[in-house]
Amino acid sequence: SVGYGASLGIACCPEHSEDQNSLLQKADAAMYAAKHRGGGYVIYNSHVGREVQRDPAFKHELRDGIERNELVLHYQPIVSLTTACVVGVEALARWQHPTRGQLGPDEFIPLAEASGLIRPLTSWVLGVALRQSATWQAKGINLRVCINLSTRNLLDANFVGHIAELLDITGAAPQSLVFELTESTVMADPLRSMEMLTKFTSLGISVTMDDFGTGYSSLSYLKRLPVHELKIDKSFIGDMALDSIDATIVASTIELAHNLGLTVIAEGVENSKTWGMLAEMGCDTAQGFYMCDPLPVRDLEQWLANSKWGRLAGPGEKTTPELSS
Ligand code: C2E
Ligand code: MG
Ligand code: MG
Repeated sequence: SVGYGASLGIACCPEHSEDQNSLLQKADAAMYAAKHRGGGYVIYNSHVGREVQRDPAFKHELRDGIERNELVLHYQPIVSLTTACVVGVEALARWQHPTRGQLGPDEFIPLAEASGLIRPLTSWVLGVALRQSATWQAKGINLRVCINLSTRNLLDANFVGHIAELLDITGAAPQSLVFELTESTVMADPLRSMEMLTKFTSLGISVTMDDFGTGYSSLSYLKRLPVHELKIDKSFIGDMALDSIDATIVASTIELAHNLGLTVIAEGVENSKTWGMLAEMGCDTAQGFYMCDPLPVRDLEQWLANSKWGRLAGPGEKTTPELSS
């Protein structure tokens, strides 16, 4: 069900730019154009931008949309496979577009990444998610909040300072925050990522490797990266109840992660059979439509109060994966 392949974007110095940031942005745009074509490589040219954002107004709309608070975060519960208690949520961005209706992240995150808007977008996401985390803490609702980051965020020298500032302003506890990074994000620049992840960890924030299994992680890096948890990609979880190869991959990944001292989360759990298999394999936590869709805050709080899955972890129960040394 998944198409494997690489997409490569090329921008040259000095032809396309002599400025490091705009060069990266152009290489990004070329990479998304290549993705758009279904793989292979694209060398940057002036059409590339247009190919990515077929409608040039879209970028301006997104910039305005962020400023006008048209984005909204939905939260999907994360449930412990051992206690069946909710231990956290993943924050997932949606755009309530004034004329196009609600757009999913796949419809605007790539554009944000290719157009330099991922910085203000991530900043907006962090502000809202940290404030929400502090609100839940104040209400005694003990949830870890997982936030997705992009490659470009890891290349932003001011990023850690910005987070420290946001922690200060919002009063959110770093121990209840988790940053999700995909394998390809981290492996794009392993040394720089290592530095960044170490800084997150020293702030008290945990790190989860998202979409694990779809990229090309070097196991030697994985061993050394300050990552607390692996999130097994939904493409393996979705079919594991029917496909014995996927089931073997999932079981082996859980064992590998545990042997490396990492916890494991499964995403894309859609039925009780999958839930049961994961529990048997010793997977730590899970999220998916079987338990709950991503929901707006108010609906989520209602779900927490009424669903059989909604019981929150008690004070003694672990909600955050711990980094083993
Ligand atoms: P992700 O981080 O891997 O998020 C999981 C995706 O799986 C979400 O899609 C979620 O709605 C979906 N999902 C949840 N349960 C199930 C299930 O049981 N079955 C299936 N098939 N899918 C399920 P969504 O919300 O469309 O987000 C897509 C991606 O967009 C995310 O993948 C993440 O990489 C990115 N994204 C979302 N919000 C943000 C954000 O604030 N910042 C950044 N940089 N990326 C974001
Ligand atoms: Mg994620
Ligand atoms: Mg994922």
